[in-house]
Amino acid sequence: MTSQVDGPILLSTPDVGELEQQYVLRALQSGWVAPAGPDLTAFEDEVAARVGTAHAVGLSSGTAALHLALVSWGVGPGDVVPVSTFTFAATVNAIRYVGAEPHFVDCDEESGNMSPALLSRAVRTLQDAGRDVPAVIPVDMLGKCVDYAAITEVADAAGARLLCDSAESFGASYDGRPAGSFGDASVLSFNGNKIMTTSGGGMLLTDDQRLADHVRKLSTQAREPVAHYEHTEVGYNYRLSNILAALGRAQLERLDDMLKRRRGWRERYRRLLADQPGVRILGGADDAGDNCWLTAVVVDPDVSAWSAADLASALGEAGIECRPVWKPMHLQPVSAGLSGTLDGSSERIFERGLTLPAGSALTDAQFERIEATIRGVVVA
Ligand SMILES: *Cc1c(COP(=O)(O)O)cnc(C)c1O
Repeated sequence: MTSQVDGPILLSTPDVGELEQQYVLRALQSGWVAPAGPDLTAFEDEVAARVGTAHAVGLSSGTAALHLALVSWGVGPGDVVPVSTFTFAATVNAIRYVGAEPHFVDCDEESGNMSPALLSRAVRTLQDAGRDVPAVIPVDMLGKCVDYAAITEVADAAGARLLCDSAESFGASYDGRPAGSFGDASVLSFNGNKIMTTSGGGMLLTDDQRLADHVRKLSTQAREPVAHYEHTEVGYNYRLSNILAALGRAQLERLDDMLKRRRGWRERYRRLLADQPGVRILGGADDAGDNCWLTAVVVDPDVSAWSAADLASALGEAGIECRPVWKPMHLQPVSAGLSGTLDGSSERIFERGLTLPAGSALTDAQFERIEATIRGVVVA
């Protein structure tokens, strides 16, 4: 068996321990195994209270939350939904599930988040061409909130609903306000690699009671509130289970400590790379509101003496996982034929970026190994 210090180091692994065991065991022993139960209700209330929204609906994934918001709003064939191109496939997949057309919007090169100026241009072009734009979906990249003031203004002016993909940004804030509280609705993910996990799960957050009620109903096969099984619309099997919600409650209790650890790694990466010409941390110099879910470096090969590929191979040899940043969705084969408002920013970040380990379960000894490996590249 390899020791924790010598073994492989992964990007972001679940950080679970005794508290999680206690909560899950208690849920099992209470008999509330499936599907709903008191832990699910409590988990929803606790997340809503933390974020400051009136409602929260626990779902089987963040993808399910994105999907059901669009279903509930009646977004469908013929509609165009501007979406960040610099994101994980799930954001875009949800648009395609409902038969609408994603329109890719490029990012601000410093933050990696959807550019409000490009969104504005995209909406104008689409609406001038007579297209219906019922919703827009920006993504809080790697745990940094988008420029919500500017993005909200563009969405409002367009008459489009704002669905915020905050899957990566739980615990972050913008202008003092928590991620998950913006727009008409927001989505969280509790997947295993996220800032906190229910092993798999997600949540829809909103102040709109009708949306919350409808999404909750849609997530349980759209069963009508009568004794027999009565259905007037197509439903889904997307509800979060009570056992997983119990795990989420334990994680939520530990969230602030986990955020602190991730922020600590970010600060150490910053110190390590501070005087490297042509090297920056994606997100910009101000990460005060970030949850620091993952840290990505962006290396300009024209200025830096080493490249992201050099760093990737050194880390790989040392058994340390690293990964390219998201490949922009407009470059994916599955997106062939779809349109976008693009300026090359996300492509440049994709070519030059590298995502580094930042899990809250990393030990100090593991992080020292990462630092030593990076030092070997930057001073070489
Ligand atoms: C993880 C993630 C999702 C999907 O969440 P799941 O819970 O895995 O379905 C959606 N959007 C972004 C940006 C993500 O990183």
